[in-house]
Amino acid sequence: MNAVPLRSNKTANAAIRSVTVLGATGSIGDSTMDLLRSARDRYRVEALTGNSNVQGLAKLAKEFGVRFAAVADPARLSELREALAGTGIECGAGASAVIEAAARPADWVMAAVSGAAGLKPALAAVDRGATVALANKECLVCAGDFFMQRAAKAGACILPADSEHNALFQALSSGHREELVRVIITASGGPFRTWAPADIEQATLAQALKHPNWSMGQKITIDSASMMNKGLEVIEASYLFSLKPEEIDVLVHPQSIVHGMVEFSDRSVVAQLGTPDMRIPIAHCLGWPERIKGPSAKLDLAKIGQLTFEAPDFERFPGLRLAYEALRMGRGATTVFNAANEVAVAAFIAGQIKFGAIARLVEATMEAWSRSTNLAPLSSADDAIAVDHNARNRAASLLPQIALRAS
Ligand code: NAD
Ligand code: MG
Repeated sequence: MNAVPLRSNKTANAAIRSVTVLGATGSIGDSTMDLLRSARDRYRVEALTGNSNVQGLAKLAKEFGVRFAAVADPARLSELREALAGTGIECGAGASAVIEAAARPADWVMAAVSGAAGLKPALAAVDRGATVALANKECLVCAGDFFMQRAAKAGACILPADSEHNALFQALSSGHREELVRVIITASGGPFRTWAPADIEQATLAQALKHPNWSMGQKITIDSASMMNKGLEVIEASYLFSLKPEEIDVLVHPQSIVHGMVEFSDRSVVAQLGTPDMRIPIAHCLGWPERIKGPSAKLDLAKIGQLTFEAPDFERFPGLRLAYEALRMGRGATTVFNAANEVAVAAFIAGQIKFGAIARLVEATMEAWSRSTNLAPLSSADDAIAVDHNARNRAASLLPQIALRAS
């Protein structure tokens, strides 16, 4: 059984749905809460989580009358308790409290914690067979096939919330799996799409944070500028839909209107289009298997005028090449790719490395890891977490020499 339901066999259900949002204080969390706000009669919020923004979390918890609120930073428990005093809302703090939030009985869970920290909470929702809208691509990239196998075993339903994967999810329902030739995920190309390599090398944090089309969290915005995000998405598509690397193409499409396409055996290509607004794929996941009314702007193609496409440049954006390499290597290589990228992005934000060094650190970490003897497939969350942990240490130890090395 595939955990991603390629064809809907569920019937519409008018009952009130209980939902939990992991990462409620982030960008995806904000879009999700916005959709829930406009359909208060259809959803009841069971639990919300955040990392350290206690006041933002408490405000949402009170607004939605949730049953449980958890903050990942264990030092913030008293602040959260104080902020929720007299409301009757239970609260918790620390990584275990975020997992507890995911494990509580909600029909639908938005997994929108950023980074590999989202793995254990997402698994807690998966293990109880929930419907999980998966925005957190890093957890899938980190845990690989294992995540999807565990979802299938628990009878969990994984709905892709990432816009490209949601587009593929919608397009895939036009045919059967055996009729699929390839999928195409689009990429805006980010702010450095037309930049010369020397300028990309020296790009500043402020420049990397200026995404041309999407408004997103800091980590994913930097990943979009390096095209690491597209690399993570290639890996995400492979695991979500059981696709080989050669069945996944990336197409640069600066307008971000076509999000994903599926080519079938008769050469029909089915695409999903929409304005670049994450509330569209999230609304699809929230309503599924029905469609709900979305607040996003209507797509006006006449006004947009032109949709353009170009091939990705694997030389100027080596992160994309490394993602395909990691996928071909298997056996934890995508975990290493993700962990090294998280370390590299944090180092770039901290001013320790140049923008161009992000991919160099990822490549050096992958090389060092592939020379090591520990090349076994991942068979548990602890396996994935151990590889993730080792890769972070390895990346951190390589950091000083990468920081010094010229491009
Ligand atoms: P964000 O940084 O805006 O929000 C992240 C959320 O996770 C926040 O609520 C934060 O408090 C929480 N968080 C951070 N570290 C945590 C930790 N260690 N433990 C528990 N909670 C923690 O990020 P975002 O842009 O909303 O992205 C969230 C996820 O969705 C990422 O995996 C990203 O790749 C994916 N995604 C985002 C977009 C987008 O448009 N923003 C699109 C597609 C996919
Ligand atoms: Mg995406």
